[in-house]
Amino acid sequence: MLEDKFPSYRGDLRYHCLGCQKKYPGLELHYTCPDCGGVFLLRDHNFSELKKIPGEKWRFIFDARAGSRINALRGIFRFYEFIAPVVEEKDIVYAGEGNTPLILASSRLQRFVGQKLAFKNEGQNPSASFKDRGMACAFSYLQRLIRQKGWDQVITICASTGDTSASAALYAAYVNGPVKSVVLLPQGKVTSQQLSQPLGSGAAVVELPGVFDDCMRVVEYLADNFRVALLNSKNAWRILGQESYAFEVAQWCDWDMSGRVLFIPVGNAGNITAVMSGFLKLKELGVISSLPRIFGVQSRNADPVYRYYSQDPEQRSFVPVQVRPSVAQAAMIGNPVSFPRVRDLARRFEQEQGRGFFNVVLVEEQEIIESMLLANRNGHISCTQGGECLAGLLRARESGLVEKSEQAILNATAHALKFSGFQDMYFNNSFPQGYDITPREEFMNQPRQVLSPEQKKSMDAQEFTRTASQELVRLLGLKGN
Ligand SMILES: *Cc1c(COP(=O)(O)O)cnc(C)c1O
Ligand SMILES: [Zn+2]
Repeated sequence: MLEDKFPSYRGDLRYHCLGCQKKYPGLELHYTCPDCGGVFLLRDHNFSELKKIPGEKWRFIFDARAGSRINALRGIFRFYEFIAPVVEEKDIVYAGEGNTPLILASSRLQRFVGQKLAFKNEGQNPSASFKDRGMACAFSYLQRLIRQKGWDQVITICASTGDTSASAALYAAYVNGPVKSVVLLPQGKVTSQQLSQPLGSGAAVVELPGVFDDCMRVVEYLADNFRVALLNSKNAWRILGQESYAFEVAQWCDWDMSGRVLFIPVGNAGNITAVMSGFLKLKELGVISSLPRIFGVQSRNADPVYRYYSQDPEQRSFVPVQVRPSVAQAAMIGNPVSFPRVRDLARRFEQEQGRGFFNVVLVEEQEIIESMLLANRNGHISCTQGGECLAGLLRARESGLVEKSEQAILNATAHALKFSGFQDMYFNNSFPQGYDITPREEFMNQPRQVLSPEQKKSMDAQEFTRTASQELVRLLGLKGN
């Protein structure tokens, strides 16, 4: 019996403030607690209903739904009951997000690292990053609000290190109607590919001097004082959508997470929040019996979360940092909005499964870019943040935090092409000051020029083909057959 109908379960989602523990109804737009300014997580007050269904039945339902022919269930809403069971089928926005493949590392790379590892290719989402998971959920929820409240104009707004704006603009363009997208970017701090995305989707793109943290403060000011829909991960609906990453990883691993260790780059910390929250849900509902181990990874040039966790557990205090240039630019954030969520979930994670189930490691810029190049030379499509994960794994192995017998799952959070500018800088040895990266010959690669345009002009087609071929024979050392 294959169930192929839209789920009938409906949740009662409420915002829970992590600062003062107050709760707010889920069918209103909230970003931060009106009382204390704390951040929210959404919790389903009908969750005990879901617990009545045994884990085995859930596994069966999700496995069956993987072949669903219902459009609304083809993406992240395969896990509808666990994500946002307050949206109706007609509200759901599906633009091809989710269902990204887990690719086993090439055997050469596995030999090099000395253990089993795999990349989850989040760059294969529609706007080429994992942000689409959260955006599909936030827009589905927005559709529901628009329908219910009869809004005729909604301005969505976000600050971005590049990928949030690309994703927000894509979904706004798809939904269209009353939705207009505005994105705020730090001038010169997003790649040209990332900038081209919201421009191409027709969003209003605003550049501000400074870094992401400066843009974020402006967006917060606007969201507090004007009628705009905020699409940063402060918006708790985005976190729910991004939990689908955890659900998909668990399903791919046949619902067995024991002996698995996940690496996640940490910027604004929304993603690591969502991944931990997702796995805790699966465990609570008996869908998995063990949590995976989680490693957050940060660059030395943007490391506030690492700094927090390297302090004495008895007297830790969180201090934002001033970021320095990082090739892991999408994670170049000094004051992560979701830090209180991480603290809350990391505590729950360790309470549930024990010490060592939540960790943060620090890596150098040189390690990040070279790990990306190493991954891609082995047939992967990792961005710099994916490289950061591999660098984190190598570090964790070196310092004895990860065993050879564990299987590592690395989050390649975006497509390599978005960050090809950093590859160019490495290959041309043209990093501006501040990155502290010295390219090494073994990783470099450059196009080779064969014949000049002037030489070509002096030849007819036949001569050109023959001369160019002879040059190639010489260059490649080809032998006759
Ligand atoms: C946003 C982003 C990150 C950082 O994720 P957070 O949720 O901000 O911690 C990492 N990599 C890429 C490609 C991103 O777009
Ligand atoms: Zn509060």
